[in-house]
Amino acid sequence: MTEKGFVKIKLRDSLSEMEEYVPGKSIKEVAMEFDFDVDGIIKLGSNENPIGSSPKVVEAITRHARELYIYPEICSPDLRQAISQYVGYPINNVVIGTGGDGVLDTIVRLFVDNKDETLIPIPTFSFYELVTKINGGVPRFIQRGEDFSVPIDELIDSVNDKTKVIFLCSPNNPTGNVMEEKDVRRIAESVNCTVVVDEAYVEFADRSLLHLVKEYENVIITRTFSKAFGLAGLRIGYAVIPEWMFGEYMKVNQPFGVNQMGVVAGIAALNDRDHLNRTLDIVSRGREYLTSNISFKVYPSQANFVFIDVSPLKSKDVALELLKHGIIVRDCSSFNGAGDTFLRISVGTDEQ
Ligand SMILES: *Cc1c(COP(=O)(O)O)cnc(C)c1O
Repeated sequence: MTEKGFVKIKLRDSLSEMEEYVPGKSIKEVAMEFDFDVDGIIKLGSNENPIGSSPKVVEAITRHARELYIYPEICSPDLRQAISQYVGYPINNVVIGTGGDGVLDTIVRLFVDNKDETLIPIPTFSFYELVTKINGGVPRFIQRGEDFSVPIDELIDSVNDKTKVIFLCSPNNPTGNVMEEKDVRRIAESVNCTVVVDEAYVEFADRSLLHLVKEYENVIITRTFSKAFGLAGLRIGYAVIPEWMFGEYMKVNQPFGVNQMGVVAGIAALNDRDHLNRTLDIVSRGREYLTSNISFKVYPSQANFVFIDVSPLKSKDVALELLKHGIIVRDCSSFNGAGDTFLRISVGTDEQ
């Protein structure tokens, strides 16, 4: 609320109970806080690609750098065409947005009216809660089991007339486990709302549920170029959606949500399968190494990070101690439903 002269401006009610998104720490922040050289810091807090972006992407951006003054083509058909080939769906099932986050935002804006609800099995990616609230919806939470699997019966029983979107993350951030196909089928068949399966980490996993979009009118798969494709800084995400949603998504989505450098970079990244395969090799080796060499309980992960229970210690203390050594990991105590003993460590290079 601000008050200057006669003007009284009030923010939307839905914002009053919102907290700011807590990201992993940046290299700059840590360098300043602990007086380190930027190059000496090991960043394993945000699940970025350990070997960086493909050199072919850098080359493509350099080649197109002079075109910055031109608007990208509306809805980026060239990038969507390239994604369409990658996922094996027609272009009218493929939509894009400003990062996976941008895609999730558009999806919520498609389905969630004021006071409508979303269902979120926690702990999970905290943006689902945030984006629901931003759009005036009400997030409802279901606690995952001991092994962080989703309690399917409880989830289905919790759906009511107000429920518009269910967020399933597979592999789940921050716990690393995946959804069973039969469970997602059962959910999709039992509910009258949209089921989002967030596959941000799918390239690192042994399965995808992409084929379910062909079978169900209410299943959406969301993905991103930020993780396996190493383009977190460019903000490109996409979704594979049932065709009936396509026109509606296009109405609600920002027309130029992916910029022209994102378009050329995304296409170049999809064309560099060697870089992707190198990334997957390093991550699978590093994940195995971390899983068998950390002396706390490490949960089995199908993503490019491991989830660790450091009890009886507190995650914030362990994270701080690692920061003093120049190592950034993610203290998960800011994740709703995660408690205060979990750390998430991104898989880095062998050297890291
Ligand atoms: C990183 C991530 C995303 C998307 O990130 P963007 O950088 O916005 O593309 C989506 N879902 C999960 C679970 C993630 O971890």
